[in-house]
Amino acid sequence: MTEQAKKSQKLQAPKGVPDYLPPESARFVAAKRVLAEAAELAGYRPVELPVFEDTALYVRGVGASTDIVGKEMYTFPDQGGRSLTLRPEWTAGVVRAVVEHGLDRGQLPVKLWYAGPCFRYERPQSGRYRQFQQMGVEAIGVDDPALDAEAVAVAEEGLRRLGLGGYRLEINSLGDEACRPEYRERLLSFLRGLDLDEATRQRAERNPLRVLDDKRPEVKAQLVDAPLLVDHLSDSAKEHFETVLEHLRGLGVAYSLSPKLVRGLDYYTKTTFEFVHTGLGAQSALGGGGHYDGLVADLGGQPLPGVGFSIGLERTLLALAAEGIPPQDSGSVPVFGVALGAEAKGRMTSLAGALREAGIGVDLAYGDRALKAAMRAADRSGARFVLIIGEAELASEQAQLKDMRSGEQSCVPLPDVVSEMASRLAEAG
Ligand code: AMP
Repeated sequence: MTEQAKKSQKLQAPKGVPDYLPPESARFVAAKRVLAEAAELAGYRPVELPVFEDTALYVRGVGASTDIVGKEMYTFPDQGGRSLTLRPEWTAGVVRAVVEHGLDRGQLPVKLWYAGPCFRYERPQSGRYRQFQQMGVEAIGVDDPALDAEAVAVAEEGLRRLGLGGYRLEINSLGDEACRPEYRERLLSFLRGLDLDEATRQRAERNPLRVLDDKRPEVKAQLVDAPLLVDHLSDSAKEHFETVLEHLRGLGVAYSLSPKLVRGLDYYTKTTFEFVHTGLGAQSALGGGGHYDGLVADLGGQPLPGVGFSIGLERTLLALAAEGIPPQDSGSVPVFGVALGAEAKGRMTSLAGALREAGIGVDLAYGDRALKAAMRAADRSGARFVLIIGEAELASEQAQLKDMRSGEQSCVPLPDVVSEMASRLAEAG
């Protein structure tokens, strides 16, 4: 390709990467805030962590037999020859930070929330992207079924606060180290007797539990009689699970038992759950999570358990759209300023500064537009009030104030603009 042809080629975002532009972007940010509020209400505090980590963290933390580590990571060497990986999920990084900074030796449980992008090299489709954002929590350090129930309830509270209703909570127990190894062997010998394709057979040998989650009808049909972990739980895992369910009932969180639910990450033990939305098509999981017993120690920390969830923000937005829930925030500022002439522009700039300082949002007409064009821009901005300053107004030290809803126009002395706008906006609610 010639240099010229290269320059004229249209630039596009990489495949499978969503852009969010206004007004949808405001909804994205608002959804993140609402989900985080639910976490803050339960005492979770925010963390901001790196978007890339040493590759070894994810291999150890997420598990070599997972699809994520096996084929979906964005791994690259940096210029110092280190192997780095863009964050494919949050839990491993959160646990790394907790251990690195010794939070696992302090007040427990450590309760943290996070929100930000993750990267997986997956086949893009609706609800599945190569960069996506997750909001989630981790509660690390205390083995208490009430804490598992709290994590579930925080996720549910967030979804409810967003106005969503078309989701279902599915829950299961993946057992503990007292029952899981024996169950794994039992399941594996069942799977070896089935008529499975080579890839699934290999998957069964690597991680038999994952096969239970296979969505293909020909596989599902053969799994009808598969042994279920819930029937083989150790006494302690069983008691833990029953107590989690009891707490959920106490919290008024509805659930359905889903004995074949396993998730795509190796670290889960005991409680595991998923929020499934009916309006999302094939990628129906809004979010999910669970309890983990070995991860903190595996990553060099104390032998402490944890529990967490993550919710996908892209799918949350798709679910809001599927339920026809209108965005709450129109994104517009309440005041729009139109100045005609250089001197008026100067006055308007300082007026805008004073209004913003008083917490009143203002946008201005930029470029040297005539009154008519500037008023069109004011109209498009969605602002409730328009302030106009031209030569005549400068001479009389006044601004014209137009209420865009009633069409009514009045004059306000320039020194009174801030207080007048504040009281008009308070009146307008
Ligand atoms: P996981 O970390 O795999 O348990 O996923 C948790 C949630 O993140 C899912 O329920 C989705 O909402 C979201 N998620 C995971 N992978 C993707 C993806 N490739 N594109 C969009 N959202 C995703």
